Amino acid sequence: MTELTFSIIKPDAVERGLVGDILKMIADSGLKIKAMKMLRLTKAQAEGFYAVHKERPFFGELVKYMVSGPVVVSVLEADNAVERYRGLMGATDPAKAAEGTIRKRFGLNIQNNACHGSDGPATAATEVAYFFNQLEMVG
Ligand code: ATP
Ligand code: MG
Repeated sequence: MTELTFSIIKPDAVERGLVGDILKMIADSGLKIKAMKMLRLTKAQAEGFYAVHKERPFFGELVKYMVSGPVVVSVLEADNAVERYRGLMGATDPAKAAEGTIRKRFGLNIQNNACHGSDGPATAATEVAYFFNQLEMVG
Protein backbone atom coordinates (compact mmCIF):
# COMPACT_ATOMS: atom_id res chain seq x y z
CA MET A 1 0.00 0.00 0.00
CA THR A 2 1.37 3.43 -0.92
CA GLU A 3 2.47 5.24 2.20
CA LEU A 4 4.28 8.42 3.21
CA THR A 5 7.20 8.81 5.56
CA PHE A 6 9.11 11.82 6.81
CA SER A 7 12.91 12.18 6.62
CA ILE A 8 15.47 14.56 8.08
CA ILE A 9 19.05 14.67 6.85
CA LYS A 10 20.52 15.80 10.16
CA PRO A 11 23.04 18.64 10.75
CA ASP A 12 26.11 16.39 10.94
CA ALA A 13 25.40 14.97 7.47
CA VAL A 14 24.52 18.32 5.86
CA GLU A 15 27.68 19.86 7.33
CA ARG A 16 29.86 17.09 5.85
CA GLY A 17 28.37 17.53 2.35
CA LEU A 18 26.48 14.24 2.36
CA VAL A 19 23.06 15.45 1.17
CA GLY A 20 23.64 14.25 -2.40
CA ASP A 21 24.92 10.81 -1.34
CA ILE A 22 21.98 10.25 1.01
CA LEU A 23 19.39 11.43 -1.55
CA LYS A 24 20.93 9.03 -4.08
CA MET A 25 20.54 6.13 -1.63
CA ILE A 26 16.92 7.19 -1.04
CA ALA A 27 16.18 7.35 -4.77
CA ASP A 28 17.98 4.07 -5.52
CA SER A 29 15.90 2.32 -2.86
CA GLY A 30 12.69 3.21 -4.69
CA LEU A 31 11.45 5.93 -2.35
CA LYS A 32 9.97 8.87 -4.27
CA ILE A 33 10.56 12.41 -3.02
CA LYS A 34 7.18 14.16 -2.75
CA ALA A 35 8.41 17.33 -1.01
CA MET A 36 11.73 18.69 0.21
CA LYS A 37 13.37 21.78 1.73
CA MET A 38 16.45 22.93 3.62
CA LEU A 39 15.91 24.81 6.85
CA ARG A 40 17.37 25.53 10.23
CA LEU A 41 15.27 24.29 13.14
CA THR A 42 14.53 26.66 15.99
CA LYS A 43 15.01 25.35 19.52
CA ALA A 44 11.22 25.26 19.99
CA GLN A 45 10.74 23.30 16.75
CA ALA A 46 13.41 20.75 17.70
CA GLU A 47 11.94 20.36 21.20
CA GLY A 48 8.47 19.89 19.74
CA PHE A 49 9.63 17.44 17.13
CA TYR A 50 11.40 15.21 19.66
CA ALA A 51 8.90 15.86 22.51
CA VAL A 52 8.41 12.10 22.93
CA HIS A 53 12.01 11.98 24.24
CA LYS A 54 11.78 14.95 26.62
CA GLU A 55 12.31 12.85 29.76
CA ARG A 56 15.33 11.04 28.30
CA PRO A 57 18.78 11.99 29.63
CA PHE A 58 20.03 12.82 26.13
CA PHE A 59 17.17 15.24 25.29
CA GLY A 60 19.07 18.48 25.93
CA GLU A 61 22.06 17.39 23.86
CA LEU A 62 19.78 16.07 21.11
CA VAL A 63 18.01 19.43 20.79
CA LYS A 64 21.34 21.30 20.76
CA TYR A 65 22.61 19.01 18.01
CA MET A 66 19.45 19.35 15.89
CA VAL A 67 19.68 23.17 15.92
CA SER A 68 23.46 23.22 15.34
CA GLY A 69 23.14 23.67 11.58
CA PRO A 70 20.79 23.34 8.63
CA VAL A 71 18.84 20.16 7.93
CA VAL A 72 17.11 18.83 4.82
CA VAL A 73 13.56 17.66 5.46
CA SER A 74 11.58 15.62 2.97
CA VAL A 75 8.45 13.57 2.46
CA LEU A 76 9.03 10.17 0.87
CA GLU A 77 6.46 7.94 -0.81
CA ALA A 78 6.46 4.23 -1.60
CA ASP A 79 4.74 0.98 -0.75
CA ASN A 80 5.59 0.45 2.93
CA ALA A 81 7.61 3.69 2.93
CA VAL A 82 7.97 3.80 6.73
CA GLU A 83 9.47 0.33 7.06
CA ARG A 84 11.47 0.66 3.86
CA TYR A 85 13.14 3.91 4.95
CA ARG A 86 13.80 2.60 8.50
CA GLY A 87 15.55 -0.35 6.85
CA LEU A 88 17.58 1.91 4.60
CA MET A 89 18.64 4.08 7.58
CA GLY A 90 19.74 1.17 9.77
CA ALA A 91 19.92 0.98 13.57
CA THR A 92 19.94 4.17 15.66
CA ASP A 93 23.52 3.46 16.71
CA PRO A 94 25.69 3.46 13.55
CA ALA A 95 28.01 0.91 15.20
CA LYS A 96 25.08 -1.53 15.22
CA ALA A 97 23.69 -0.62 11.79
CA ALA A 98 23.82 -3.18 8.97
CA GLU A 99 26.21 -2.88 6.03
CA GLY A 100 24.85 -0.74 3.20
CA THR A 101 22.61 1.41 5.42
CA ILE A 102 22.83 5.21 5.61
CA ARG A 103 23.81 5.20 9.27
CA LYS A 104 26.47 2.52 8.78
CA ARG A 105 28.03 4.52 5.93
CA PHE A 106 27.64 8.02 7.29
CA GLY A 107 26.64 8.04 10.98
CA LEU A 108 29.27 9.20 13.47
CA ASN A 109 27.75 8.00 16.76
CA ILE A 110 24.38 7.22 18.40
CA GLN A 111 23.45 10.92 18.46
CA ASN A 112 25.06 12.18 15.26
CA ASN A 113 23.52 9.47 13.13
CA ALA A 114 22.96 11.33 9.84
CA CYS A 115 19.22 10.88 9.38
CA HIS A 116 15.76 10.59 10.90
CA GLY A 117 12.83 8.52 9.64
CA SER A 118 9.31 8.21 11.04
CA ASP A 119 8.71 5.12 13.18
CA GLY A 120 5.13 4.42 12.03
CA PRO A 121 2.43 5.67 9.64
CA ALA A 122 0.67 7.73 12.32
CA THR A 123 3.94 9.37 13.41
CA ALA A 124 4.71 10.01 9.75
CA ALA A 125 1.43 11.88 9.26
CA THR A 126 2.12 14.08 12.32
CA GLU A 127 5.71 14.75 11.28
CA VAL A 128 4.82 15.57 7.66
CA ALA A 129 2.20 18.06 8.88
CA TYR A 130 4.74 19.59 11.29
CA PHE A 131 6.91 20.71 8.35
CA PHE A 132 4.84 20.75 5.15
CA ASN A 133 1.48 22.03 3.95
CA GLN A 134 -0.52 20.49 1.08
CA LEU A 135 0.71 23.09 -1.44
CA GLU A 136 4.30 21.93 -0.85
CA MET A 137 3.53 18.29 -1.68
CA VAL A 138 4.41 18.77 -5.31
CA GLY A 139 6.21 15.52 -6.14
P1 ATP B 1 15.08 9.11 14.77
O1 ATP B 1 13.80 9.31 15.59
O2 ATP B 1 15.96 10.33 14.74
O3 ATP B 1 14.75 8.57 13.40
P2 ATP B 1 15.47 6.55 15.99
O4 ATP B 1 13.98 6.41 15.84
O5 ATP B 1 16.34 5.51 15.38
O6 ATP B 1 15.95 7.95 15.45
P3 ATP B 1 15.03 7.38 18.72
O7 ATP B 1 15.05 6.44 19.87
O8 ATP B 1 13.74 7.92 18.24
O9 ATP B 1 15.85 6.68 17.52
O10 ATP B 1 16.01 8.59 19.11
C1 ATP B 1 15.90 9.85 18.45
C2 ATP B 1 17.28 10.40 18.25
O11 ATP B 1 17.85 10.71 19.52
C3 ATP B 1 18.30 9.42 17.63
O12 ATP B 1 18.23 9.34 16.24
C4 ATP B 1 19.60 10.03 18.09
O13 ATP B 1 19.97 11.17 17.31
C5 ATP B 1 19.25 10.47 19.50
N1 ATP B 1 19.53 9.40 20.49
C6 ATP B 1 18.83 8.26 20.67
N2 ATP B 1 19.35 7.51 21.67
C7 ATP B 1 20.42 8.22 22.14
C8 ATP B 1 21.38 8.00 23.18
N3 ATP B 1 21.34 6.91 23.94
N4 ATP B 1 22.33 8.95 23.36
C9 ATP B 1 22.37 10.08 22.61
N5 ATP B 1 21.48 10.34 21.63
C10 ATP B 1 20.52 9.43 21.38
MG1 MG C 1 12.59 7.87 16.51
